[in-house]
Amino acid sequence: MSSDKKIIIAIDGYSSSGKSTMARHLASAIGYRYIDSGAMYRAVTLWAMRAGLIGDDLAPDADALVSRLGEISIDFSVNPDGTQHTMLNGEDVESAIRTLEVSDRVSPVAAIGGVRKALTSMQRAMGVEKGIVMDGRDIGTAVFPQAELKVFVDASAECRAERRYKELKAKGEDVTYEDVLNNVRTRDRIDETREESPLRKAADAVSLDNSAMSTDEQNEILLGLYEKAIRNS
Ligand code: C5P
Repeated sequence: MSSDKKIIIAIDGYSSSGKSTMARHLASAIGYRYIDSGAMYRAVTLWAMRAGLIGDDLAPDADALVSRLGEISIDFSVNPDGTQHTMLNGEDVESAIRTLEVSDRVSPVAAIGGVRKALTSMQRAMGVEKGIVMDGRDIGTAVFPQAELKVFVDASAECRAERRYKELKAKGEDVTYEDVLNNVRTRDRIDETREESPLRKAADAVSLDNSAMSTDEQNEILLGLYEKAIRNS
């Protein structure tokens, strides 16, 4: 299924649309590196929370955060089973970045121009050799506008909140469905209306509404799109 020709695959979409699961599966099927760009914004947010740079009103101190970005290093460790963990200054923060506390604070952090600039250049460096699947909000529009395959994933807010709620409950988090739905809606609004690289479908991205699709169906569609993109590239 893999080819000698390497391309860049950008998968963007709304919060909890299942894009990470799809992107990870595709990367492993075709032997590409998978990068979860949202995890990078979450790691910066966790660092800022710990540094006391996010107030009770959830607003980050943008100037202080941007001036201290040099103190933050983000990496991904690959486990023997192929799963990746996000590393913040050498610490495995994979679970810590997935809590509702971080989810509630990440979009205002991701709206800061200086933060986006720094993470965008790290993300571009990761794609220099191609052979990468990256998911996020602005991968096809801002990070890799030249990506050979762009997919934009969507599903209803209720459907996305339901999936996320089940995931968080399965991890033992004490959350309600309403809290998760509010978080999903708030993040959508901030991500779509921010000035810097707002969440938008790139004109040349393929739309995929997965509200009523099984993961197998999504994986099959994505693989078909990859094969077509390889043929056309
Ligand atoms: O993908 P995930 O939901 O984990 O991303 C967390 C948040 O990070 C998003 O709600 C969005 O605010 C921000 N983000 C972004 N640009 C990306 C990836 C994520 O602004 N490329």
